[in-house]
Amino acid sequence: MTRRYLHLALPSPLRQTFDYVLPARMALPPDGARVRVPFGRQEQIGICLGSSETTSIPEDKLRAATECLDEEPALPPALFRLCLWAAEYYQHPLGEVFDTALPVLLRQGEPVPAQGELRWRMTRLGELFPLDGPIRRAPRQIEALLKLREFPEGMIPPLLASLGIERPTLLAMEKKGLVECITLTPPTHETHVQGLREPPLPLNPAQALAVDAVNARAGQFHPFLLFGITGSGKTEVYLQAIAAVLARGDQALVLVPEIGLAPQTVARFRARFQAEIAVLHSGRNERERLDAWRAARSGRAGIVIGTRSAVFTPLARPGLIIVDEEHDLSFKQQEGFRYHARDLAVRRAQLENVPVLLGSATPALESLHNAREGRYELLELNIRAANATLPLFKLIDLRHQAMKEGFSEPLLQAIRATLAKGEQVLVFINRRGFAPVLMCHDCGWQAQCKRCDARPTVHRNPARLHCHHCGGETRPPVQCPSCGSTDLRGVGLGTERAEDFLQRAFPKVPLFRVDRDSTRRKEALNQLYHDIHAAEAGILVGTQMLAKGHHFPRVTLVALLDIDGGLFGADFRSAEHIAQLIIQVAGRAGRVGRQGLVLLQTRQPEHPLLRELIANGYAAFAERVLDERRALDLPPCGYLALLRAEAPDAERPMAFLNAVAALVEGDALQLWGPVPAPMEKRAGRFRAHLLLQGRRRPTLHAGLAALLPRIEALPEARRVRWSLDVDPQQIT
Ligand code: ADP
Ligand code: ZN
Ligand code: ZN
Repeated sequence: MTRRYLHLALPSPLRQTFDYVLPARMALPPDGARVRVPFGRQEQIGICLGSSETTSIPEDKLRAATECLDEEPALPPALFRLCLWAAEYYQHPLGEVFDTALPVLLRQGEPVPAQGELRWRMTRLGELFPLDGPIRRAPRQIEALLKLREFPEGMIPPLLASLGIERPTLLAMEKKGLVECITLTPPTHETHVQGLREPPLPLNPAQALAVDAVNARAGQFHPFLLFGITGSGKTEVYLQAIAAVLARGDQALVLVPEIGLAPQTVARFRARFQAEIAVLHSGRNERERLDAWRAARSGRAGIVIGTRSAVFTPLARPGLIIVDEEHDLSFKQQEGFRYHARDLAVRRAQLENVPVLLGSATPALESLHNAREGRYELLELNIRAANATLPLFKLIDLRHQAMKEGFSEPLLQAIRATLAKGEQVLVFINRRGFAPVLMCHDCGWQAQCKRCDARPTVHRNPARLHCHHCGGETRPPVQCPSCGSTDLRGVGLGTERAEDFLQRAFPKVPLFRVDRDSTRRKEALNQLYHDIHAAEAGILVGTQMLAKGHHFPRVTLVALLDIDGGLFGADFRSAEHIAQLIIQVAGRAGRVGRQGLVLLQTRQPEHPLLRELIANGYAAFAERVLDERRALDLPPCGYLALLRAEAPDAERPMAFLNAVAALVEGDALQLWGPVPAPMEKRAGRFRAHLLLQGRRRPTLHAGLAALLPRIEALPEARRVRWSLDVDPQQIT
């Protein structure tokens, strides 16, 4: 009998497949199945890529596979193919791609189907049970109730156990009638088609057109770009498109940015639909993730909502893929396997034959370009739903203004007037902490991070110098290390300082600071949102966290304190990103029937892009930037890959990248660099860049594919840490 050899992808940084003998006792695994194999002195779980009767591995090196873990592949065919495609597109080792695509517990060998469908679920009594009643003295039961309220469809025992909720607690609660133990029947078409919990809103004509357009493409690949100004009702379009998908018995996958997955988003979906909703984000533990993954794969969950990596969630009956805030940078993984979830979502929709809907008020130039070239169908929502008007923009020229802690007099007047009307003010600052620089007032000395080419930010409560690049923290010196003076001052403005100043300037007004520091505690952000909604006049001070999705109905004045840094950033995408930020922050203003005002403080009031943006809006701005990009063959009108290298000294990264540059022949690929990275030293390592540019995508990819094996063979490659980033989003 001839022998068969399995070709496997194993979690390894090597760009190669691994061959194993298929033992006689083992049935041939299907493509995509998990196979356990010996690897060195350990065992590994690989993914079967196929088999053949030949291998190039010498007989004495060959080993036999141990067992096949799946009768049916863990990843359905479309996802399996998506992973193969992504590995090639991003030039990333296939084993690591599968590692990203599969939940950790499956990579460790857990079975794909859940063992039994026994689950604990809250009863109606449990749902309504007051937590401050007699149950007060049973903290474990309270904890269990809170968790079960998050999972209305019930939780399987291993999931509960992983959260520290044990059987005796549940039995005690069962006695009180708070929870029940149920057995779920496998999903059928009938149980799946479920109605709505609340009636949909009557759509305005533009929304209706969008929903109809998406519905009309059911069962076929068709990409849409939903370009809708802030507050135009994009979410309602998603909800109604999903309702149609569910009514057909299919499932919808919704990708949202990191910060977008606040409980309010999920609550909005739960309020609308009866169908089970599986939620996947980084705050969930591995058990919860696997449970959600199974609910999606089995078809039980009608809706799957998740952040970046949820693009790899299998669906039994895919019907629609939605990417909300598709311009958001969090969709791009910035380390390891550097994929872009939006781009993979489009590719996946093609492999699954379903429509895909990308939505944003400030679409990425890539997406606008695709729409302009006819690859995406453009759907526009140009008016605000719910009778809200768009805010008015005004520039405050800082060049002739006396400033108080970063605030100009006209801005302070506007804040005063807004508060006097009982309305709220949103103050946006790009930086958290107290001040971006600690400086000696006598000699000009500035604190410097020892491990980075960066200055650490001054924070208070507790007082510390915190480097936002390497995370390093030190106690601020009492004396200047250079001249001994004790007059050390924070220079520049961060959210803490603005809070401090505003508190003194408006002592009677409630103040809310929203940044990563003030929301570190779980639930803190929700509490803040709640308090903001409950307040009348008030001031919100915060970073980008305030820019995303959330509505503040009482905010009528938005102030952006310092946008100039962004306009002149080192990255060619800086202007695009700052424009998106300005429009998104501005979009928080005047949402319900009140005219909002947006004030931008700048020393560059004549900046042509800034003027275009505030006079004619994001679309006009984008056209202008696209023209610039076209002239320079920059994305989306040209294609880039970034080779990064780093090492503890400055020479080795440059030596490596020079060696790579010497490998590139012909003129299909243009090279930029090598150059030291904009921040050359970070976390104690020196970094350098080589940018590769192709005028056409196939040329770039063919060039990269030919180059990579030769890069790997370079002796210099072993002396640095290097990575390739295809379609880099940030050149840092
Ligand atoms: P976006 O996501 O585009 O910023 P949302 O979908 O959050 O906007 O909608 C903004 C507000 O308008 C929400 O309060 C929403 O309930 C309301 N809204 C959306 N569509 C309609 C509609 N057709 N009729 C009335 N109100 C609507
Ligand atoms: Zn000094
Ligand atoms: Zn640092």
